[in-house]
Amino acid sequence: MTIALYPGTFDPIHNGHIDIATRAAALFDEVVLGIFNNQKMKNVLFSPEEREALAKQAVMHLPNVRVMTYGGLTVDFAHAIGADTLVRGLRAVSDFEWELQMALTNRALASDVEMVCLMADQEWVFLSSTIVKEVAGVGGNVQNMVPPATAQALEAYFGHS
Ligand code: ADP
Repeated sequence: MTIALYPGTFDPIHNGHIDIATRAAALFDEVVLGIFNNQKMKNVLFSPEEREALAKQAVMHLPNVRVMTYGGLTVDFAHAIGADTLVRGLRAVSDFEWELQMALTNRALASDVEMVCLMADQEWVFLSSTIVKEVAGVGGNVQNMVPPATAQALEAYFGHS
């Protein structure tokens, strides 16, 4: 059984994340969408519980995708859940440098965990959680960027209709 870990902050989950989770679900027997939580994380809008709840609603139609929250090293969490692959999404060249750094660091920490990058779909290639929060923060409509539960949570947070 192949288990892959798709780790990230998911603050909040958006359609680009869901696209990667959907495609990973077709490649692996099981995908764990791992929500990284660290007490020292600043600049995070939603609590780990809120991020987990939104992610769960967003992937509930994918039977082999589970959502879990974790802290500490991503490779340690991968070992704990029996995942030997990390899945990441690659948008632009700017993502590549960071992902390469992460891949090499993770490999130095745990050479048994491989990292696989899936290319972003062209529909979502410019989408990020930061953009979603910036648009929602000034009252913009994010309904074509995020699933309904995320849109509602952003609306509740920023108080726009
Ligand atoms: P992080 O904070 O680790 O960058 P994110 O929650 O922003 O985590 O993203 C998790 C993963 O999803 C990362 O691999 C990121 O590159 C990928 N990702 C984010 N946005 C998109 C998108 N629009 N299309 C494809 N992959 C994406």
